[in-house]
Amino acid sequence: MERRIVHVDMDAFFAAVEQRDDSALKGRPVIIGASPEKGQGRGVVSTCSYEARKYGVHSAMPVSRAWRLCPQGVYLHPDIRKYAQESKKIMSLLETFSPVIEQISIDEAFLDCTGTEALFGGSCDLGKAIKQKIYKERGLSASVGIASNKSVAKIASDLQKPGGLVICPSGEEAVFLAPLSVKRLWGAGPKTVAALRRLGIETIGELAAFPEETLSRHFGRWGEHLHRMALGIDPRSLEKERGQKSISEERTFRRDTRDKGRIEQLFLALSQNVTAQLRVAGQKARTAHLKVRYSDFSTLTRSRTLSCYFDDTETLHQVVKALFEGLKGEKRIRLIGVGVTNIEEGAVLLQPSLFDEDPTPKRKVDTIMDEVSRKHGKVITRGGLITRKEDDGV
Ligand SMILES: [Mg+2]
Repeated sequence: MERRIVHVDMDAFFAAVEQRDDSALKGRPVIIGASPEKGQGRGVVSTCSYEARKYGVHSAMPVSRAWRLCPQGVYLHPDIRKYAQESKKIMSLLETFSPVIEQISIDEAFLDCTGTEALFGGSCDLGKAIKQKIYKERGLSASVGIASNKSVAKIASDLQKPGGLVICPSGEEAVFLAPLSVKRLWGAGPKTVAALRRLGIETIGELAAFPEETLSRHFGRWGEHLHRMALGIDPRSLEKERGQKSISEERTFRRDTRDKGRIEQLFLALSQNVTAQLRVAGQKARTAHLKVRYSDFSTLTRSRTLSCYFDDTETLHQVVKALFEGLKGEKRIRLIGVGVTNIEEGAVLLQPSLFDEDPTPKRKVDTIMDEVSRKHGKVITRGGLITRKEDDGV
């Protein structure tokens, strides 16, 4: 049977949630990310509203540059807990269109809607119904792409943002993709795009016409995969186990630092944010990751897999602290990242052998904090997170 794969991608997700919840933000350039500090901020923009994009602001841009382009913007810190809760609600709405769903990030998912024509009609009706349901029930705008496979559906959803609905009819994949830039191919980052350009390839059509042997000589198996994607061929099925493969957060210090107190404070804040996302999603993780970038931009990563699953702040905090102590670096630190992988939904919480104490009290603190912040916004914080004024937006 011909497949019908739908890719749903929320429009300017974090900014749209903030604009929905605060009518004073509607129609204004809203920029979510690190604090801009009047142009001296050192982090990046996480998401921005379409009003901000008119000024040339975009995600992943240094927030100092965003400030120069749009000083009149409203700059907000991301409230990941709120966005994760919203994401969960959207995903359960999507489940009413198909039980076969693969969430690939906080605001994006694939649905396999093969064989649902009798229920939802043609692809145009299906796409409209999905967008309308999200708008009616959550007050948010989404873009939808529909095609015979994941790669083409993902490209399609991005072509007419915001509020787009783009359908690629089955059998027309290669023609549909041909005029588009290779930048649009899923997974083609700046390195791949630059390497393709050196071979004289700019569009997906040019890539499709290129001999596959030459591509695999340059890129190995990745080259073969790219070539097939350019031809509109992607037999991958949806990965059944729903949920994110990893959750991570990172922050850049305003000034590079070696101050142990500040570094540990950041470990605690990041551990809290990461595990809050696990708890909201009802998930648990087994592997903790630490990333440290030094002032010379050299970057080290370390990870440790525990014998048991966890979802509490304290466990993650202790593990990343221990990993950090193993680094023994003398250089100043620019950026810290904390993350988890090996994520399971509904995994049984067992006491990590690393910390031979009852984990229940640690989880209790998290539960209380999650509950209070759900009701009142961020009004309480852990003692270790009360920062001095010059600290880093923790
Ligand atoms: Mg999005």
